[in-house]
Amino acid sequence: MGSLSTPGWRQLNVGVIGGGIGGMSVAIALRRSGHLVTIYERADFAGEVGASVSCAANGTRWLHEWGVDVAKGDPVVLKSLINRDWKTGEPVSVYSLDDYEKRWGYVYNMFHRQYMHAMLKDCALQEEGEGVPAKLVVNHKCEDIDLEKGTIKFANGVTVHHDLIVGSDGIGSAVRGVLGIHPAKRPADSSCLHANVKTEDAVKLGLVDYSQDSALEYWGGQEGKWDKIVLSPCNGGKLLSYYCFFPREKGDYSTQQWGTEDRPVEELLAPFPELDAQVKAHLAIGIEIQPWRLWVHDPYPYMHKNTTCLLGDAGHPMMPHQSQGACMAIEDAAALGILFNKQNFKGDVAECLDVYTKVRLPRVTRVQAAAAKAAYNINERIGFSANKDIATYKVEDEKKKLTIEEMNAYDMYKDIDEELAKARGQEYKDKYLHGLPIGLELPNGVVIGA
Ligand SMILES: Cc1cc2nc3c(=O)[nH]c(=O)nc-3n(C[C@H](O)[C@H](O)[C@H](O)COP(=O)(O)OP(=O)(O)OC[C@H]3O[C@@H](n4cnc5c(N)ncnc54)[C@H](O)[C@@H]3O)c2cc1C
Repeated sequence: MGSLSTPGWRQLNVGVIGGGIGGMSVAIALRRSGHLVTIYERADFAGEVGASVSCAANGTRWLHEWGVDVAKGDPVVLKSLINRDWKTGEPVSVYSLDDYEKRWGYVYNMFHRQYMHAMLKDCALQEEGEGVPAKLVVNHKCEDIDLEKGTIKFANGVTVHHDLIVGSDGIGSAVRGVLGIHPAKRPADSSCLHANVKTEDAVKLGLVDYSQDSALEYWGGQEGKWDKIVLSPCNGGKLLSYYCFFPREKGDYSTQQWGTEDRPVEELLAPFPELDAQVKAHLAIGIEIQPWRLWVHDPYPYMHKNTTCLLGDAGHPMMPHQSQGACMAIEDAAALGILFNKQNFKGDVAECLDVYTKVRLPRVTRVQAAAAKAAYNINERIGFSANKDIATYKVEDEKKKLTIEEMNAYDMYKDIDEELAKARGQEYKDKYLHGLPIGLELPNGVVIGA
């Protein structure tokens, strides 16, 4: 708070719509930049989803920069990504994360959503830390926004005014519609059922203790099929979170809501007659079996209008196959924190939101496209995309595949400096292009700036 402000900087009264992972993150980032933040959440959080959430180094770095107490999230720090044969369970492609922290400065955390959410909420609302604690107002469902006036109307009849409005209201965003974005979307070709397995239950039955691997593990994915099992350990390894994908014609959950009655275990096992018996035995003791509705959204044309912007799934819903949904929401939050900080913000909200769209849209669109490809080809998944020496390695276009370098060598401060300089007609001299160091050679041979 004590740092010198650029002329024109002023404290904003920010309204954040939606208090999920993205909403809490942006509240932290903006309070730290000196603003007053109120979060409006439609629910009271009783229905938070019980599943794991990946937080790779590009997300973890912001948690540390913001002073989030990461230990509260009880994470599993990942040691590798393992792709296994569908039938035998033998490893096919392994990406070691042994040097990950050394290379990228931060670890790859696997959180449980509720723990991660609570950890972010505490950091946003607590007295401790930079800036004024954010306020959380629950049972406020946004219905409409007057974009000219900056007023939000809630279903309970309350109307409020804010200088900056952030729509972090998730995949079914109301703010998106107000901004005039009506997405072309279609149900994905694959369906997903999620199940939790308690590690102690598996161990009691003498099954493999996958938590010992501290790995994100995948069965299938090399055959160009939709069938895939994704296992992520969370809660310090006590819980195994399983995402089970299969072709939609084997079970259509595209209109089903998460959080309704649990599905029977027979329904979870039915699509997978030939699956590795060990992992199948785990699924057989699965609990809290829930459908995860998958819809493909084409990229949106913009992320803001006037003084209202979108963040996270509201602005760029993506398939889960790069495990980057939460990280992209955290990065959006970080971008707003930097743009509205005391060095960059000169009083013009719309100018900063314009740069926000310019910085965020290309990056999230790239991850969105790569996530769709990784749905049926695991070699397109960040990490595995570096394992070119395995027999079944094949990607759609070597030059276009997404690499771990792009995700983790990315410097958002530089990207924002470059775009702000352009917007203000100033020269940008740093040796970076869109946040990546000029001259950096990616594993696919592409050299940044060449
Ligand atoms: C089962 C599951 C597993 C996932 N696993 C991963 C993973 O492993 N890795 C990963 O990176 N991502 C994962 N994701 C995706 C990730 O959780 C999302 O990308 C991330 O939560 C985006 O955060 P968000 O804040 O944009 O949306 P959300 O976290 O969905 O939050 C939106 C919030 O807005 C509120 N809201 C909605 N409408 C309104 C309204 N009109 N007014 C007020 N409030 C409103 C909602 O109640 C909610 O609290 C997973 C998602 C699910 C469902």
